[in-house]
Amino acid sequence: MAVDLPKTPPFAIRARLLTPLAAGGTRHEPDGILVVDERGRIAFVGPAGDASPESLAAALDLRPWVLLPGMVDTHAHLPQLPNAGSGFALDLLTWLDQVTFPTERSWSDPAVAERLAPAIFRAFAAAGTTTVLGYGTVHAAAMDVAFAAAERHGIRAILGKVMMDRGTYDPIIEPSTILERSLRESADLAARWHGADDGRLGYAVTPRFAVSCSTDMLRESASLARATGAWWQTHVSEDPGEIAEVGRLFPEARDYVDVYDRAGGLGERTVLAHAIHLSERELGRLVDSGTRVAHCPASNLFIGAGVMPLARYLDAGLSVALGSDVSGGPEASIFSVMRVGAEAQMARRSLVGDEGPILDPFDWLRMGTLAGARVLGLDAVIGSLEEGKEADLIAVDPSLVAALPDTPADDDPRDLMSRLIFRAHPGMVQGAWVRGRRLDGPARR
Ligand SMILES: [Zn+2]
Repeated sequence: MAVDLPKTPPFAIRARLLTPLAAGGTRHEPDGILVVDERGRIAFVGPAGDASPESLAAALDLRPWVLLPGMVDTHAHLPQLPNAGSGFALDLLTWLDQVTFPTERSWSDPAVAERLAPAIFRAFAAAGTTTVLGYGTVHAAAMDVAFAAAERHGIRAILGKVMMDRGTYDPIIEPSTILERSLRESADLAARWHGADDGRLGYAVTPRFAVSCSTDMLRESASLARATGAWWQTHVSEDPGEIAEVGRLFPEARDYVDVYDRAGGLGERTVLAHAIHLSERELGRLVDSGTRVAHCPASNLFIGAGVMPLARYLDAGLSVALGSDVSGGPEASIFSVMRVGAEAQMARRSLVGDEGPILDPFDWLRMGTLAGARVLGLDAVIGSLEEGKEADLIAVDPSLVAALPDTPADDDPRDLMSRLIFRAHPGMVQGAWVRGRRLDGPARR
């Protein structure tokens, strides 16, 4: 199908619609219409038969394509994307040393970021991701370049310069000056980018993880996040070797979560990646403090860090969404993350006897979209195709996930979503929009 997809709002699209709903449940319209107003907000969503005659006449007919909310990736490392798929089964600390740090070091030259950042945002959009919470590197100039690239591209992005004052990979910075310099650079970047383009861009204060940060850096970075209203993101409890190292470095802390708790780092604006091996005490503390977790199953199995007891966490009321963790995870696609996550949970059931309801394809769709928006505190703005929200959405061609060519797409929406997860095709996302503005990246048709 050769069509010119709308580039800017206003527009209307007629297609199959599938979305989680804020009030619970999932909406499926086999023949739906979605109207985006001139400000890029969803003005109408419903059956084509209920649309105004003008909207129906003006609508671009994309059937049998499917409109979904854009995917929300709550944990990714932008500069690592070129490594995606390499370094299988190195343990976390070895993988950082051999694969990741050399790549991140290359961003000491902002020209490298200038060249790569636009392609990285196109790759996220091509995978169907319209919002990303991402890490940069320790280099402030490269981070500024990455923000400027996100501003031009149109993706919704919350980004942060990595902070590390222990075992840092940038040999140029005098160690005794790192804390002060890193805080100043983070504050400058937050002042410049946090809330830019009417909130499309945001800043996340980003201490890498406890192993790379002194007590002072953790505490000062958390207080910077509070003072600026920015997010605070880091990693927790990913790998047994890492957890042992944190115990050695912070003997005064009760456990890994307590290291961040003592620093003032827990709360509703905090997103912790991984959190695989939490004790009951740690889980309870994250739930009580409203701290959010980015679940990155594709990364966890690629590195061999472990399998999250997701059912236990959800039962406890933890706010969990999905993250690609590229390039700990081998793909930017949240659809791929859903597949590995679903398979890993099935493995837990048979290997360790997890019980409770099995998460179905609609549950995974919700976790990749609306739950992601909720983890970021943006669920009133994005995450589902509902009137009044900003038009962050994707158009998917279901023929690419069919088992045989020229077979009609599944009538049953659960079956359709199941195929989008378990047979995700790298070219299936045909269009992606943020606030009704089309993003470069998805296949041009
Ligand atoms: Zn990570």
